[in-house]
Amino acid sequence: MNRAEMRQRAAERQSPWDMVIIGGGATGAGIAVDAASRGYDVLLLEQHDFGKGTSSRSTKLVHGGVRYLEQGNISLVMEALKERGLMRQNAPHLVGDLAFVVPNYDWWEAPFYGVGLKVYNVLAGKYGFGDSQILSREETLERLPTIKTEGLRGGVVYYDGQFDDSRLLINLIQTAAEQGATLLNYVRVTGFNVGPDGFVDGVVAVDEESGRELRVGTRVVINATGPFSDGVRRLIDPGAAPMIAPSQGVHLVFDRSFLPGRSAIMVPHTKDGRVMFAIPWHGHTLVGTTDTPIAEPVLEPRAFDEEVAFILETAGQYLHRPPTRADVLSVSVGIRPLVRTDGAASTAALSRDHTIHIERSGLLTVAGGKWTTYRHMAEDAVNQAAMLARLPDKACVTRTLNIHGFHPHAEKFGALGVYGSDALVIQDLMRAHPPLAVPLHPDLPYTRAEVLWAVRVEMARSVEDVLARRCRALFLDAQAARAMAPEVARLMAAELGEDGAWQRRQLAAFEETANCFRLA
Ligand SMILES: Cc1cc2nc3c(=O)[nH]c(=O)nc-3n(C[C@H](O)[C@H](O)[C@H](O)COP(=O)(O)OP(=O)(O)OC[C@H]3O[C@@H](n4cnc5c(N)ncnc54)[C@H](O)[C@@H]3O)c2cc1C
Repeated sequence: MNRAEMRQRAAERQSPWDMVIIGGGATGAGIAVDAASRGYDVLLLEQHDFGKGTSSRSTKLVHGGVRYLEQGNISLVMEALKERGLMRQNAPHLVGDLAFVVPNYDWWEAPFYGVGLKVYNVLAGKYGFGDSQILSREETLERLPTIKTEGLRGGVVYYDGQFDDSRLLINLIQTAAEQGATLLNYVRVTGFNVGPDGFVDGVVAVDEESGRELRVGTRVVINATGPFSDGVRRLIDPGAAPMIAPSQGVHLVFDRSFLPGRSAIMVPHTKDGRVMFAIPWHGHTLVGTTDTPIAEPVLEPRAFDEEVAFILETAGQYLHRPPTRADVLSVSVGIRPLVRTDGAASTAALSRDHTIHIERSGLLTVAGGKWTTYRHMAEDAVNQAAMLARLPDKACVTRTLNIHGFHPHAEKFGALGVYGSDALVIQDLMRAHPPLAVPLHPDLPYTRAEVLWAVRVEMARSVEDVLARRCRALFLDAQAARAMAPEVARLMAAELGEDGAWQRRQLAAFEETANCFRLA
C-alpha cells in the first residue's frame, strides 16, 4: 500500500464512488473489505492512523462474551461465537485459542460456572473452541502458578479466542486494498455535500499531511466513526439527537512474571459487578478493564486514578504478589461506542449489539457491536448501504475470505508470526541486511526490518504509527517504546526522504502520546 498512490486515485476520480466510508477502525475496515470484495467502488477516509481509535485498545479477545450470557442476550452470544469461529478460520495467523480459568474460592462457584461455561460451549456449536472442565485445586495452580492460594478450592477452565487487534486491523486494510478499495489515513472528513434532492452525495475532507482539501462524490456515505459517530452526524444535522453513550475502558500491562503460564484468569464478578481479565499477551500480562461513562470522546483518552486503583486492587485480590503502580509498564484507554437505550442503569448494562441508523439526509451510521462481530456488522451495513444507493445486488463473500497474511502455521515464524505469510518477506529483508534483524530494544522483539516494512508496505506515516499499531511496543512497555523512538525516527526519515526537523517533530509528538501510556 502506498499513500501517495491512494491519494492520487482519490484526487483524480471523476465519477462518484459507490460508497465512501468514514473511519478506519474495525467497523470501517470491515465494511471496506466487504464492499470491495463484492465489487463495489469504495473510498475509506481515516482522520488519524488506521486503528488509532478504540480498535487498537481492546482486551484482545475474540469471544462470545460470557457476561452477555449471564445478561440473557443469547442471540448476541451465539452470533459472536459464530463470528469467533470465522475469524480464526480466515485469520489463523492472528487469532488463537486461549484457556481461561475462573478460580473458585466458594463452594458454589464450581457447579455454577461449570454449568454456565458448558452452555457457552454448546452455543458455539460447530464453531466450538474446546470443552470447559472443572479443575481441582492442584490443576488450577498448575495453570495459574501465581494465583492466591488462601481459600482456593479449584477452578473452571474454558476456551475462547485471543488476537492482536491493531495487527488484524492493518491486515484488513491490506485485504480491502487488494480487493480494489482506496484507503487513506490522515484524511479527516469535515463536511458533506447535499444534492438538490436533499440527499448526501459528497464528502468534504482535509488531508492532514498537506492541508489540502479533498472533495469527492459518492452514492452513499457510511459513518463508521465509532465513539465519534455523533460528531460526524452533527456535521450534517447540528440538532441530531445523540445515539452514542461513550464509556471508557482501561488496561494495565505488567511483565510476564505476574502471569507466567499460558492460561488467562477470568474474574466473573468484580466489586462493581463486571468481568475482569488477566491475560498473557505478547510475553506480558494484560489486565482490564473498567467501564466509566464519559461526556465526549477524545482521540487519546487518559485513565482516571480511580480506574487504575480499581484494576490494581482487583488484581491484588487474585494474585499472590499484588501489582503496584510501579509495576505498570503501559496503560491504555479505549472508548466503547455503545448505542444508547433509554432506561439502562449503567453503560455496563448497555447492549453490545450493533445498530444501523439512517438519517433523513441518507447518511448511514453503523455503531456499537464488538471487534469479534466486525464482519457481521459490515455485511449488514453494506446490504443496507447498497439498497439505499440503489446499487446492483451483490452477495457478501467475507465468510470465507482469507485475511491478508493468512497462514495456518504462523507460530513457526516466532515473534514475526503476527505477520503471517508476510513473515517470509521480512525474513528475506533481514537475511539480505543482517543489521536489520537486530532488535530495537533488549526487552522487546521488534527489529529494524519491521520499521522498514511498516513504512514500505503498511502505510505507517509516523513514529507513533510504527511503535503503537504496526508493532505493539507502546502498548507493552511505554518506557521501552520511548527509548526506541529516535532510531525509529531515523529509519523512517531515510525511507520517506524526510530531514532532521521532521525527526525532531516526530519525537516531540511521540513523547506527548507516550506520556498518555505512562502513569504519572
Ligand atoms: C476497553 C475496551 C475493550 C474491548 N475489548 C473487546 C474485546 O476484547 N473483544 C471485542 O470483540 N471487542 C472489544 N471491545 C469493543 C471493540 O474494541 C469496539 O467495538 C471496536 O473496536 C469499535 O470499532 P469502530 O471502528 O467502531 O471504532 P474505532 O476503532 O474508534 O474507529 C473509529 C475511527 O473513526 C475515526 N474518525 C472519527 N472521526 C472522523 C472523521 N471526521 N473523519 C475521518 N475519520 C474519523 C477515528 O479516528 C477512529 O479511528 C472493547 C472496547 C473497549 C473500549
